[in-house]
This record gives sequence, C-alpha cells and structure tokens, in this order.
Amino acid sequence: MKSNAKNLRSGITDVRRIVVKVGTSSLVHKNGKMNLKRIEKLARVVSELKNQGREVILVSSGAIGVGTEALKLPEKPSTVSGRQAAAAVGQVQLMQVYSRLFAEYGYNVAQILLTRDTMDAAEARQNAVNTFTALLDMGVLPVVNENDTIAVDEIKFGDNDNLSSIVARITKADLLVILTDIDGYYKDNPNVCPDAEMYHTVTDLSEAIEAAAGGAGSKLGTGGMLTKVHAARLAASEGIWAVIANGQEPEVLYKILDGEDVGTAFVPEKAR
Ligand code: GLU
Repeated sequence: MKSNAKNLRSGITDVRRIVVKVGTSSLVHKNGKMNLKRIEKLARVVSELKNQGREVILVSSGAIGVGTEALKLPEKPSTVSGRQAAAAVGQVQLMQVYSRLFAEYGYNVAQILLTRDTMDAAEARQNAVNTFTALLDMGVLPVVNENDTIAVDEIKFGDNDNLSSIVARITKADLLVILTDIDGYYKDNPNVCPDAEMYHTVTDLSEAIEAAAGGAGSKLGTGGMLTKVHAARLAASEGIWAVIANGQEPEVLYKILDGEDVGTAFVPEKAR
C-alpha cells in the first residue's frame, strides 16, 4: 500500500488531460481575503502546464469564502440562501481574478457551473462533456464550480472533491490532482498525532482505504480528508491517476508530473 515507488509514478509523467482541484483553504487566507500570492503562482504553473501541451481543467472552490469577505460578513452564512448569495458574489470576483491572471499568460478562462442533477441526466451530461471538449480544443482553461445558486441539499455534489472526481471521470482525464492544506493522506490525523505516517502510494482501491480519513474541514471550506480520499479512489478505480497534495506551493504540480514521490498517489490498475 505504501512504497517509495518512483517507478510506479513514472506513468504520471506523460499524462495529457489533468483536472486540478483547489480548495478554499488554498485560495483564501484565514481572514477571508483572497490569497493572491497563491492564486498568482497557481495561474503561472497551470499556464506552464498548458504551454507544455497538456490540457487542464481547474475545479475551484472559494466562491462562498470570497463572497463572505466581500459582503463583510463575520463568517460563512448559516442559512442556505445566505451561502448561495455569498457564492453568487464571490464567484464573480474569483473569475475576475482568474481571468486577469490567465490573460497575462495568453489564456482565456471559461466558467462552468455544474449541478449534480445535470450530471445524472445523460443528455445534460453529454452537453457538458461536449462543452469541455470544445473549450480544451480551443486552448481555453475551463474553471469549474458547483452552481451554488440552485444546488440545494438533495441535488448537491456536496463538495468540490466529489465534483472534481466526476469532472475527471466524465472528461476521461488522465490525472486528478486534489490540492489541499496538508501534505497528503495520513494514517491518523496529523493535527492530533504529530507522528502520523502518510500514505505515499495507494494501490488498494477498496472502500477500506477510506477508514482512516476522518471528516475535517476549515472554517471557509467544505470537504475533509474523507471526501478527498473517496474522490481519489473513485477516479483511480476508473483508470485515472489521482494525487492528493499540499497546494501551499502550487509548484507541487511540476513535482507530481515529474513522477516525484510527493503527496499521496492513488494508482490506477493499468499503471501497476
Ligand atoms: N462551491 C463552494 C464554493 O465555491 C465550494 C464547495 C467546497 O469547498 O467543496 O465556495
């Protein structure tokens, strides 16, 4: 289950279509302001991956967090409609920043807002896939989030970890990278057990692997490690490499694509 399998990871180096999921904790400071230094680096690294001829889809959270700050609210609203309103405000601001930063590197961005029910409906799903394909063919960077305005409980993806895994699967991506605020998937919660060991390479894609991942989330984000492990496992079960890594330094994407032993990699069967 755990190995220093540099050779195993060498299969990652030539992936072409990559879904990168970045969470609120990577995009927004604890005080609610956008982490521009981080977002700027992310834009540069993703642009370089595109320059290398790879296709990238960015799944970005942060709408509620950014909206909460823009509206000068003390914390994420407790009501659904309040969070939806915050997301509607924050999504625009996030897209403005992405649009400006990616333009510096010559790339257009496109906003794609999805809901789970459209993913469950074959025709709507196919339309989404067609749009992704057309955008990627045109060299555009699709930036995906849940359509928070209309997504209420029973029709929610729930969190962007799940959403990113679905996007990776419907677009038949080669690699899903889930960037978060810890180095990878630990056997115990590293905030509680400082000696906790991290899984480096996971080849057991059964549900059992999720057992150690307790739920935990930051003040502004939604998912915890459990949702990430679940999302990564499902992607890997469908033949997609999946890596959970620390997004503090977006350059970690270069290391992942060099086959370095960073983060926790879930290895699809075909690569073993
Ligand atoms: N759609 C939510 C937002 O943009 C994020 C959900 C999540 O963090 O998983 O704020």
